[in-house]
Amino acid sequence: MSFEQLGLMPRLLQAVAAQGYTIPTPIQAQAIPAILEGRDVMGGAQTGTGKTAAFALPILQNLSQRGRSKSRRPRCLVLAPTRELAAQVGEFVATYGKNLTLRSTVVFGGVGINPQIDKLRRGVDILVATPGRLLDHVVQGTVDLSEVEILVLDEADRMLDMGFIHDIKRVLKLLPKKRQNLLFSATYSDEIKRLTDKLLDNPAMIEVARRNTAAEKVAQVVHPVGLKAKRVLLAQLVKEGNWERALVFTRTKHGANRLATYLEKSGIGAAAIHGNKSQTARTRALAEFKAGKVKILVATDIAARGLDIDKLPHVVNFDLPNVAEDYIHRIGRTGRAGCSGNAVSLVSADEQKLLRPIERLLGKQIPVDIIDGFEQNQADKDEETFVDFRRKGKKSGGFSRSQSGGASRRSNVASNRNALAPR
Ligand code: AMP
Repeated sequence: MSFEQLGLMPRLLQAVAAQGYTIPTPIQAQAIPAILEGRDVMGGAQTGTGKTAAFALPILQNLSQRGRSKSRRPRCLVLAPTRELAAQVGEFVATYGKNLTLRSTVVFGGVGINPQIDKLRRGVDILVATPGRLLDHVVQGTVDLSEVEILVLDEADRMLDMGFIHDIKRVLKLLPKKRQNLLFSATYSDEIKRLTDKLLDNPAMIEVARRNTAAEKVAQVVHPVGLKAKRVLLAQLVKEGNWERALVFTRTKHGANRLATYLEKSGIGAAAIHGNKSQTARTRALAEFKAGKVKILVATDIAARGLDIDKLPHVVNFDLPNVAEDYIHRIGRTGRAGCSGNAVSLVSADEQKLLRPIERLLGKQIPVDIIDGFEQNQADKDEETFVDFRRKGKKSGGFSRSQSGGASRRSNVASNRNALAPR
């Protein structure tokens, strides 16, 4: 299968070739013809599958062939959950559409609204937006959605998780009834099904990869470690493993800041991105990371959602996520495009309860590797862990199963001590 066979026009084929793409990904092979035909599409696909090109290419073609609108009001609206994803989609749309005369722009919060207003006033064909800022423009009367022909909900599951359903419903009311709808989601919750039923008309249902496919390509390991020792262990892993680039997830924004500061003090270039940072700071941190100026990007789930970072060999769960599916999203940042990936989880005693739902979702256990000097018994001595357990009225637990990870750096003491914990 080639891009030519999908029915794309020469100017798009040139742009695709310039990107170095030779073979369409599965979602592209299925979605591009359906979208070109004008059909609604439900795409079950996560970031990393090539889904952006799967919708952007046929949209560019359809709009380009229909000719310019006189009003130059947006004819395609792409809604995305985060600023980073919106920016990324906007970049791809601009790149793929570089040989066409269509205009596109991106609007999201956290940056000045006036430059966005200027661009909207000059006219755009494709508007990529986060829901909140789009509604700000609606309220100010600086965008008119009455001529939208194509609506894309990208990472719809995440938009629902983030509580955007009311914003989305408000936006839907502003769109013409007759339009093409494309919805992409990595997961199928009941909420997503309801939205799909309401929104899509006889859609092409395309599902390209089970949601844990990305996870299968990634070597995963759990290192049990005390809460306070986590950052020391991380610095050791980075230094001893000569890690050049790693994305590290923390549960909280403060945790991300504290960890980045600690790593910097330990001589490891690090930056943090999360929702409290200004958009300029987030963009700068991401650019520095992509350029290799900082080795470690510390991020919260929401800030990192949808990030497309080439050649990312390591993902670290500094804290395990509360929602098992976030684990899949996190480790899906690595092991992309045939590259090998390595996902490390630093798990303190109080986080073990979070492992079980993750492993259920994966359908397998994650190997446990206890690193000398960072054993679970160290975790038990850890003051913070004790405080945490006392507060919850629980005894500290440990890893119950036999370690199935690599043979090196292992201490048996810890596994024996901790054989009592329920799993
Ligand atoms: P996405 O899932 O849209 O975030 O895309 C993930 C990555 O795959 C991006 O870096 C794209 O540049 C890349 N990509 C998209 N389509 C192809 C393709 N057909 N061949 C190779 N790389 C691709």
